[in-house]
Amino acid sequence: MNPAERKRIYLDHASAMPVDPRVAEFAGWFLTKDFGNPSSLHSVGNAAKKALEDARRKVAELIHAESPECIIFTSGATEANNLAIKGCALRNQSKGKKIICSAIEHMSVINPMKELQKGGFEFSTIPVDSTGLVRLNALEQMIAKDTVLTSVMYANNEIGTVQPIMAVADAVHEKGGILHVDAIAAEGRLPIDVQKEGIDLFALSSNDIYGPPGAGALYVKPGVKIQGIMPGGGQEKGLRSGTENLFAIAGMGEAARIAKLEMEKESARLQRIRDSTISKILKIDGSRLTGHYKRRLPHHASFVFSGIEGESILLNMDMFYNVQISTGSACSSKTLEPSHVLLAIGLRHEEAHGSMVMTLGESSNEDDVPEIVLAVEETVARLRKMSPVR
Ligand code: PMP
Repeated sequence: MNPAERKRIYLDHASAMPVDPRVAEFAGWFLTKDFGNPSSLHSVGNAAKKALEDARRKVAELIHAESPECIIFTSGATEANNLAIKGCALRNQSKGKKIICSAIEHMSVINPMKELQKGGFEFSTIPVDSTGLVRLNALEQMIAKDTVLTSVMYANNEIGTVQPIMAVADAVHEKGGILHVDAIAAEGRLPIDVQKEGIDLFALSSNDIYGPPGAGALYVKPGVKIQGIMPGGGQEKGLRSGTENLFAIAGMGEAARIAKLEMEKESARLQRIRDSTISKILKIDGSRLTGHYKRRLPHHASFVFSGIEGESILLNMDMFYNVQISTGSACSSKTLEPSHVLLAIGLRHEEAHGSMVMTLGESSNEDDVPEIVLAVEETVARLRKMSPVR
């Protein structure tokens, strides 16, 4: 079949998601009608302020925060992680200068920590096992009384592994530390209760729950002190200055409301498609699942194939089958270095190069599974025929 005639099968929801049409309609109102500045004291500003606070309440409800007051809106996930890490470490440095994160965090966690390290903080990473789970005994040994901040992601975007956050929180709190959790890969897919799970700081993004790009949020537990990292007009309790992006924030709130209502059913649906895709792809010679079999995001399937390059898989799947996948984090795929996540779970460089990540979403359909599997089988066979290393 001519590739242009093939139906598009988009399997890269971790990189970008379409905005839910219901959210787009809701948020559009704040571009053209209630477009005010929430800080203005007149009626147009008041309407904007109300929309902002409604969004705050809806996001708080999605994660079972103590109150809407705990939610600080940002421009996205990277900013939320930066605010959590720099804002917490700098504000609490009188208690200690040690900061740690898991070895498989996203660069928006690792790089702010490295920046703090240049400024005199002591930074180290917690090892993970071959399935990507943090080694809890290593964590317990590493955390000291002067470890001011620990960051462990809820689930990993490249290998889908879901961390035992409650056990991590216990280890951190036993030493009086603060736990930051990057929720980006898991939000809207798994039910999360920040209070029950002992989370102190929690980064979220709008687009990862089918909201408009350009908004994110940081949950800050009552009593946890952080400082702002972007001084200005003092919006968002002085922690994040700048006129709020009302359109994206209102959309994020609506997306959070819908996610709360629909997550359970949708995640179960995606999990069925995931399981059937994984079991069929693993029949391909020289294929391996990366990440944990059971403690895994419901929409996530990730593999390595021996003897071929992930970039070639991605381009072939797109060009010949109109199937879009990823080969590791979209954010770092500009470099051809193997993913730090795959190296941390113990893969050799040449193994890590052959990675393929599929993230399912609203357009995914059980009926597409045979087409997906055929595309992978034929792509892998074609690339292996051309490969000099087999
Ligand atoms: N954390 C995780 C786990 C991610 O996968 C990403 C990328 N989607 C980010 C943080 C950063 O997101 P963004 O580039 O949208 O700020």
